[in-house]
This record gives sequence, C-alpha cells and structure tokens, in this order.
Amino acid sequence: MNRAIVPDIGRASLMSEKRGAAMDKRNILNIERSALVAEPLLAGEKAFRLRQVYEWLHVKTVSDFSAMTNVGKALRSRLDSAYYIGGLTEVTKQVSADGTEKYLFELPDGHRIESVLMRYKHGNSICISTQVGCRMGCRFCASTLDGLARNLTAGEMLAQVYGVQHGIGERISNIVLMGQGEPMDNIDEVLKFLRMITDEYGLHISRRNITVSTCGLVPAIRTLADADMGVTLAISLHAPDDVLRRTMMPVANRYSIDEILAAARYYFEKTGRRVSFEYALVEGVNDDPGQARTLAQKLKGLSCHVNLIPVNPVTERDYKRPRQERIAAFRTVLERQSLNVTVRREMGTDIDGACGQLRRRMKPADV
Ligand code: SAH
Repeated sequence: MNRAIVPDIGRASLMSEKRGAAMDKRNILNIERSALVAEPLLAGEKAFRLRQVYEWLHVKTVSDFSAMTNVGKALRSRLDSAYYIGGLTEVTKQVSADGTEKYLFELPDGHRIESVLMRYKHGNSICISTQVGCRMGCRFCASTLDGLARNLTAGEMLAQVYGVQHGIGERISNIVLMGQGEPMDNIDEVLKFLRMITDEYGLHISRRNITVSTCGLVPAIRTLADADMGVTLAISLHAPDDVLRRTMMPVANRYSIDEILAAARYYFEKTGRRVSFEYALVEGVNDDPGQARTLAQKLKGLSCHVNLIPVNPVTERDYKRPRQERIAAFRTVLERQSLNVTVRREMGTDIDGACGQLRRRMKPADV
C-alpha cells in the first residue's frame, strides 16, 4: 500500500496534482523567493505577504494552499489556480537497525528516486538524489545501470528534504547530494536548490553542512566555485591514475586526474573550503599500498581530506570490498604522507546499502 508523506498528501491529491500538471499548473516549489515577486500573477502583492507564502512552503512545508491560514482567501485561491505544491509519494521505507532510513519516493510522473536519512549524534543528515538514474556509467554503481531518465528540478530536491523532515518530525541539519545522479550534470537546478535550501526565509540550512559530490565534471566544478555557495565539494576519485580510473569510470576519458585536481585547487582558492576525495576501495583493483603511495603523491600540497569507502557490492557487478587489514594498511600509507583520512562509517548496510539498489529492486511492476 502506498503511503504519502511528502508533504502528507494522499493518492487523491497526487491525482489532482497530475491533473494540475496537465492543466499547466506549475510546481511552486521551483520558484525562488526573489522570483516570486516577479510572477505576473502576484504583481502588487506586498513583500511581507509573499514572504509569508514562502515560509508556509519552505519552513512549515504545507502540502496545500488552504493551510496558509494567515494568507487571505483570495490570494490562496489565486495561488491554487496557477500552481501546485509538488510533494512526493512514499512508496516504501526501509529502517535499519542503526536508525538509517531509506526512502523510495514516487514523482508525479511516476519516476522513482531514493533518499536516505542518517541519524548521527550531531544531528540528522539526508542524502538526496539529483537525477532519476544517471548517465555517468561508473562500473561499481547501481544508480547508473538503467541510464538517465531525467533531471530533477530544484523543487523535487527540496521535496525530499521537506518530506523526510515532515515525516520524522525533527529538523534535518545536514544535506549530502550523494544519492542517485550526478549533481554537476544538473548544475543549474542544483545551484537553485542550494540557494533555496540556504535561504534565510526557507529552511536556512548552513552552507557548511551541505556536501555536493561529483565524479569530476571539471567545467561544472568551476561553475560551482564561481557561484561561491560555500558548500563542501566531494570528488569521487577512486583511482590514483588515469589508466585505472578509465576502467572504473567512463568520465575519466573526458577529464584527467590532473585536470580534476586543478579544478579542486581552484575550488579551494575561491571558497576557502577544503575539498574531500572519495575513494571506494575495491579488492584487487585499487587497494594496493603502492596505489596508496601514488595517490598520496598526487594529492601532495592540496588542502584536502580523503574518505575511504569500502565498496558496497552491487548484485549486478563483480567488485568486492577488501578485508579490514587491507583497508587499514591503505589508510596508514596515506596518513604517513600527512593526509587527512577517514574510513566511511557503515550505515544501513542491512537495508539495500549500495546506491540505487532499492530503486532497482522496487521497480513499478514489483509494487
Ligand atoms: N555522482 C556523484 C554523487 C553520487 S554517488 C558522484 O559520483 O560523486 C555518491 C558516492 O558513492 C560517490 O563517491 C560514488 O562513487 C559512490 N558509490 C557509488 N556506488 C558505490 C558502491 N557500490 N560502493 C561504494 N561507493 C559507491
């Protein structure tokens, strides 16, 4: 049975949303605060009134215009005539023993995406998707197996955060753009999402608590640097040299590690934010101490952090995670070269751990 939570709409309202879309209503969650003022339909409305509307949408995260009790009836029905509030429908939710929750959401057009809530001592963190599927083709990743269906809009990214927050009744303080999709392949909507989620009249999430992860699309990394959003940039490196990287990630045929490191340096210079490098350790592929030394050599002099991720085995792929001693040895080599290293804490491994797995397991025909 499908249960709707984001914000709490039911099947019926989803239907009306679909009808709304057919009648060319627009998702109001896609309109930035500054752009709301410029909407012809809202011309002449007082700034404070529009701020109230924005707060209903982005702080109280209501699912219906009728809930905006301090907004006049006339304005509410005007809003309702032109826009809809684009919530998501929860298809399934898996809860791990460690408290991690993995959500499978359905979009109004029937596509499905995943979001993951992780509960830490320092607060709640959500991992959101930026695309339906992905076209980057990384060999170890389940999200890319069916290719890219479409980009998500900023409003659809916001709805993942609002829906989960609404559902648990607790504030979400950290966001990582590490779900399905390549954020830099959808840079305009990602930038809009970042502006809206950090807006002082929205959820006002601290920029420092947001991480954007990329497989290394160099021009968009520079665009993100120039936008000066102050978020943390994580780059999925996964190999110490281009030859190996090309066998794991097709994007390595477009951009070399040296070009990526130059963009990382640019990002640091522009924003003052230390860059993170993700390195998924795969047994017998990239986990040799010699490869750790090559990696350390490459990263020398760069203000960065290395996050080692024991690879999540994906049913459709043949990559295995190395033994603990092997992971520890790799880490030690990097640390001896004065690199800052962490090994990603395992969370939710009992609930379809690897990226994109839940979505694949729960294709529409299965539900
Ligand atoms: N496209 C972006 C963000 C999504 S993936 C990127 O490539 O960074 C988030 C992180 O999970 C990336 O570092 C990605 O390489 C990693 N990842 C994907 N599949 C994985 C798997 N099976 N095991 C471990 N990490 C994986």
